Amino acid sequence: MDPVKEILTFYQEIGASFVEKSQKEKESPLTISAIRNEIMHCTACDLHKTKKNYVPGEGDSHPPIMFVGEGPGETEDNFGKPFIGKAGQLLDKIISKMGYSRETVFIGNIVKCRPPNNRDPLEAEVAACKPYLVKQIEVLKPKVIVCLGKVAMNRLLEKNYSIMRERGKQFEFMGIPVIPTYHPAYILRQKGKDAISKVKWEAWNDMEKVLALVKQG
Ligand code: URA
Repeated sequence: MDPVKEILTFYQEIGASFVEKSQKEKESPLTISAIRNEIMHCTACDLHKTKKNYVPGEGDSHPPIMFVGEGPGETEDNFGKPFIGKAGQLLDKIISKMGYSRETVFIGNIVKCRPPNNRDPLEAEVAACKPYLVKQIEVLKPKVIVCLGKVAMNRLLEKNYSIMRERGKQFEFMGIPVIPTYHPAYILRQKGKDAISKVKWEAWNDMEKVLALVKQG
């Protein structure tokens, strides 16, 4: 640490109120790339030891919609990009049907490193990683947040809801409307024409609510 900063830190630690943050520090706003940089060096939980790549999330820096999944899967871990496997291809189709693209929204996850064997992230892992998500939301200021699946919904809202019951309803996080919907992987797991069209129709209904909220702005 440089000697001046060391002395100021000392005075700050002993409670000297005259020690103000430097003007530069006060004025430098948090950016999405600064948060990305922090994530890329994170060792806050053990997931960084088993992951191949950090998956910080990507998209527009002031998106109308932020999609939040639970955590990277195998393909995402291999490439460091969110939702690029089969579920991601379906998410791309949904986003495109909504009139957007991957580049004009933001796609992120509750945890930024793949949990081994795609297990649900543990409470401690979510606690370690969630501050990054909070900072991302703070900087991105999306008009609407879409939680993809039960884990994303419950970890974001700190609840224990059923996605079947709560999907399509409106919640709030940091003053921003949140709409939970099915995880695209759940849609892909449906068997039979009727079951598939039912969940697709329900998911589309949820997205229509999202679009209405974006419009309200
Ligand atoms: N599932 C998720 O929840 N997130 C991803 O990034 C990929 C699959």
